[in-house]
Amino acid sequence: MHPTTYKAKAYSAGSETSPLASTQIQRRDPTNYDVQIEILFCGICHSDLHSVRNEWSEFMATNYPIVPGHEIVGRVTRVGSAVTKYRPGDVVAVGCMVDSDRTCPQCKADREQFCPNMVLTFNSPDEHLGGITYGGYSESIVVDEHFVLRMPSNLNPAGAAPLLCAGITTFSPMRHWGVSKGKKVGVVGLGGLGHMGVKFAHAFGAHVVVFTTSPNKKDDALRLGADETVVSRNADEMKKHVGSFDFILDTVSANHDINAYINLLGVDGNLTLVGAPAEPLDVPAFSLIMGRRRLAGSAIGGIAETQEMLDFCGKHSITADVEVIPIQKVNEAYDRLLKSDVKYRFSIDMASLKSE
Ligand SMILES: [Zn+2]
Ligand SMILES: [Zn+2]
Repeated sequence: MHPTTYKAKAYSAGSETSPLASTQIQRRDPTNYDVQIEILFCGICHSDLHSVRNEWSEFMATNYPIVPGHEIVGRVTRVGSAVTKYRPGDVVAVGCMVDSDRTCPQCKADREQFCPNMVLTFNSPDEHLGGITYGGYSESIVVDEHFVLRMPSNLNPAGAAPLLCAGITTFSPMRHWGVSKGKKVGVVGLGGLGHMGVKFAHAFGAHVVVFTTSPNKKDDALRLGADETVVSRNADEMKKHVGSFDFILDTVSANHDINAYINLLGVDGNLTLVGAPAEPLDVPAFSLIMGRRRLAGSAIGGIAETQEMLDFCGKHSITADVEVIPIQKVNEAYDRLLKSDVKYRFSIDMASLKSE
């Protein structure tokens, strides 16, 4: 059964070479379990740009027109008759997923991000209206209450938006692999993901080392919570840390030598990748065998864990460092993102969409 729909303003791209431009999309009216959200801010994630330009066509081809955006903070405007968790006026958030089958072993274990039938916030088949799902570059969104998060009231909504992807992507592996007081933790790369990794590792009480290619990021790394920085191109600096790390979070998506970091791990140390270099990795087995080291990957987090992350951010007053832009500057922001010319995340003020 198709629910009734309403029109919503949005920004979409019509092809992999088109810029994002103003449009109108259909949203479903809230069904019984749905929450309708007026979007206040939406972060710009690098995967928005990859999807708009169809750069991940091999494993996730883009359907056009695409409305990207999965770092959403907004205010509840309407709820379905069976909704119990939220009321109009609540400040809420939506991340990378808007549904899953809820019956598979992963869903039952609160790991919806690994559900084979997970529905992404944009560019996934839309089970309600047909077509594909549309993301957060829009004035509103309608989401099942199970996939809506509660936003702590003390957090600035513009800075909180990136917590929904950059935040949970870095929080989840640190929680899973036991980053805590007394542990030595490395963060490779100081961008949108890396700067959140530094904040979380610091808040967990770890000794935090930032690896960067540019020495001029040192002051910022220390301000964000790092205890030391290492210029990764400097072999002498790297050598001082051989065999000493409990955990290293690698956020770099450009091709790079991860063996240099594996060698810095101690016994049972873990290197987790959250960046995705295009080329396959070349890892000698012995660098893992000696020291029982682990090379791992991680993807966002489940809904319960995402709520735990937001509550942790509320308690520790953690948000992303953002540059707020109007939606009319989104194409310019994409170009700047490619040059890493942002500290450290763009957050779109969706009030700017009203003038379209
Ligand atoms: Zn993302
Ligand atoms: Zn499932």
